[in-house]
Parts: sequence; C-alpha cells; structure tokens
Amino acid sequence: MTGETGIREGSLQAPSRHPLDWRSAEFTDEAALEKELERVFDICHGCRRCFSLCNSFPTLFDAIDASETLELDGVDKKVYWDVVDHCYLCDMCFMTKCPYVPPHPWNIDFPHLMLRAKHVQHKKGEHSFRDKLLSNTRGLGSIAGIPVVAEVVNAVNATRVGRKLLESTLGVDATAPIPKFHSTTGSKRARKLAGKTQDVKPAGPTSGKVALFVTCYGDRNEPHMPEDLTAVFEHNGVAVKVVEKEKCCGMPKLELGDLETVEKYKNFNIPQLKKLVDEGYDIVAPIPSCVLMFKQELPLMFPDDADVQAVKAKIFDPFEYLMHRHKAGLLRTDFTQKLGKVSYHVPCHLRVQNIGLKTRDVLRLVPDTTVEVIERCSGHNGTYAVKKEFRAASVKIGRPVMNRVQGANPEHYSSDCPMAGHQIQSGLAPHEGETSPRSPEHPMTLIRKAYGL
Ligand code: SF4
Ligand code: SF4
Repeated sequence: MTGETGIREGSLQAPSRHPLDWRSAEFTDEAALEKELERVFDICHGCRRCFSLCNSFPTLFDAIDASETLELDGVDKKVYWDVVDHCYLCDMCFMTKCPYVPPHPWNIDFPHLMLRAKHVQHKKGEHSFRDKLLSNTRGLGSIAGIPVVAEVVNAVNATRVGRKLLESTLGVDATAPIPKFHSTTGSKRARKLAGKTQDVKPAGPTSGKVALFVTCYGDRNEPHMPEDLTAVFEHNGVAVKVVEKEKCCGMPKLELGDLETVEKYKNFNIPQLKKLVDEGYDIVAPIPSCVLMFKQELPLMFPDDADVQAVKAKIFDPFEYLMHRHKAGLLRTDFTQKLGKVSYHVPCHLRVQNIGLKTRDVLRLVPDTTVEVIERCSGHNGTYAVKKEFRAASVKIGRPVMNRVQGANPEHYSSDCPMAGHQIQSGLAPHEGETSPRSPEHPMTLIRKAYGL
C-alpha cells in the first residue's frame, strides 16, 4: 500500500540486499556510523516489531522506555554498543520481520549495520583475547585435536574445576555447552566412505557429484557429521569428494567484525572450491552457518569477485540437495528403521536461506516417523551462548525451544546446527528413569540410522 507520503510499507517485494561497502572510508567513520545508528534505532523505536527476536532490541527499547524523554535522544550513547554486543548476526530481523528493508526507501539492514559497528570495534582493538580465541575455530581445533591433547582438553573440560578455571581466565561460562575435540578428523572419516559412486546422474540443478566442505566443527568436534553425510549421499548415488584443504568459512570472524580475516580465509577457500565447480562438482557443507557464508555473506562482501559468485551458485544445503534428487526420483526410500517421534529444530541460519523446510521433508520420508518442527532461536548463536556475560540471555532466548523438546518427550531431537542441539540439551532435564538428558542427533545421523547404514 502506498500512503500519502508515497512511502510503501510492507514486504510484498522480495528484499534486495545491498553489497557491503566495507572498504569505503565512510564504513569505518565513527561519526557517520553514529548518525546511521541513530537513524535506524529511531525507526526501530517507532516500529518495535522485532522486540521478541533477540536481546538487542529489548536492550534498545528498555533504555528508551527508561529515559527521561522516552525517546532515543534520552538514551546514553553507551547503550548503542550494548545493542551491538547483543547482536549475533542471525539475520532474522532482516529476513523475516522488517518491512523497511531495501527496496523500501528507508533502507534498513539492521544486521549489516550491527556488522559495521562490530567492524569499527574490531578496528579499534576492542575485542578481547577470549573473543579472538573462540572465533579461531580451526586453530583451536588443530591444537586441541592433537592425539593425547584432545583427551586432556576433553578431560579438563569435563571437570567442575576445569570449567571454573575456564570461566575465571577466559570468561567461558561454566554452565555453557562446550564442544569435545577429536583427533580422528571428520575429513579422514568421510574420505573412507567417499568416491564409491561411479554412475553419476545429474538431476535438476544438481550434478550428482559433490565436494564436501567439512567445516571446522565437522572436522574436529562432530566428525561423525561429515561421515554420515558421505554415507547417505553415496548410498543415493551421489559421488562425494572431500575438499582437499580448507580454512574456516569465516562466519565466526564475521561475527566479530574482523572482515580482514574473513577475506584471508576467502582467498584460501574460494580458488579451491571454484576449481571443483569447474570440474562439475556441486558444494555441500553440513552446517547451515557455513553454507550461508558462501551463499550470502561472501557474495555481499565481494560482489565483483566472479569466483565467489560462481561458488555461490553451486553451494547447497545438504537436505536441499537431497530433495532435488528426490524430486527427480533419485532418492532411495528403502529405509529399514523407523525414527518414531522427532523434535526438529530449524536453526536461524537455515531459515534465512529461504529454501523451505527441506530437512523436515527428508525426515518425513522415513516410515512411522512424525516430525515436530520448532522454528525458534535456540539462543546458541555462534559463541554468544558460551560467553559468561551473555549466558543468561542466551538461555532465556532458548528456553521455549528447550521446553518444547522436554514436553514432547520425543524418541529423537535434532537440529541442523550441532551447537544449537547442545544448547537445547543444556536446558533439558533427564526423563524418568534416566540419569542425564539425552543427546541431540544431527538429522543426517538420523537418516543414516533410518537407512541402516
Ligand atoms: S541479526 Fe539477529 S541478533 Fe542481530 S539484531 Fe537481528 S534478530 Fe537480533
Ligand atoms: S529492524 Fe525493522 S522490523 Fe525490526 S524493529 Fe527495526 S524497523 Fe522494525
């Protein structure tokens, strides 16, 4: 609808996102940034649709409501930075709520404004050693994943004393779920099962050959995940090749505003992925945030890089891929085991890919299986949930999801994001007759189980 002002409200048109102009002088100009924060925060104050999405918006609205003027001009500028700190770049406000995103003339891109502010903080050296360490996922994994070291790190992390020490020295909350480290990597495990398919059949947008970007978390923390993916894909006549060498996709550094390191990782990963694309491979990765990085964030940071755009065109969420194959009659449905009741959580970084609920659709193909979908934030969000100062807020955000899973008492609960799965687990109580809450299972693990592979 067009009002008297000629400004149209509502998101009837598909949002068009502007490239991130992160190299311009204006991007890091503090006065320009403050002016833009003021402009956008004032519009948000008048709108307030996003009050329930995360803790950024309540931080802003509570400060306005507690101010003398009851307007943004009564709010201390320090609060602006609290709003920035509470944003974990899930993208939900842009993709699902905001009617003022481009092409609307108000041109609101709240997550990318937060990213700009984080980048300014980063440039000023305002991020702690802890934040830099936690976002160095591959570095952490390759040290803590060394045989013996892995066992020691896991053992120390499993004790109360070890966790208290981690909390007092690094600010990693003692109650937060932290990952285990494995010395037998996901790449090694996946390679053992890969390359068995010879007769490759293209279907729809898929070539039938995938290069697997294992991801840092898949390599060292949940190595069964790339292994399960490989087993399921090969079982369905999709040839899998594990990417030879990879660095982090860059999402944890993006969340810290460290765009220079994101570029460094991009310069390492993209030439290899582009070469695989040229050889006819599609790309998949088992974690939605990593897929989103190649599908959305890198293309917006490097709009003129043809190789980045070529990789964007060929990267898929794994269940999106399987459903393309199913549509062409190429997905096997000879499941041998039922799954029963599954509580399935859809992570934010998957929801914002706008591909529909493909994981649910694949799980539903398994006989005697019901899938209860939970489309709410788990509160994990990168490293947000493990930082002492944000732990309480993250549990508050995730509580409705935890309660849904607890109340459903399902045979399995699952999230495409393994970290979200552990965050949910951290808020569950053991069921009657059990001593600890059950563990989450990745949807690809469940599908492998259902095939009996
Ligand atoms: S991107 Fe996510 S965390 Fe950040 S403000 Fe929007 S909804 Fe909140
Ligand atoms: S981001 Fe958009 S929808 Fe959300 S509060 Fe601000 S103006 Fe409203």
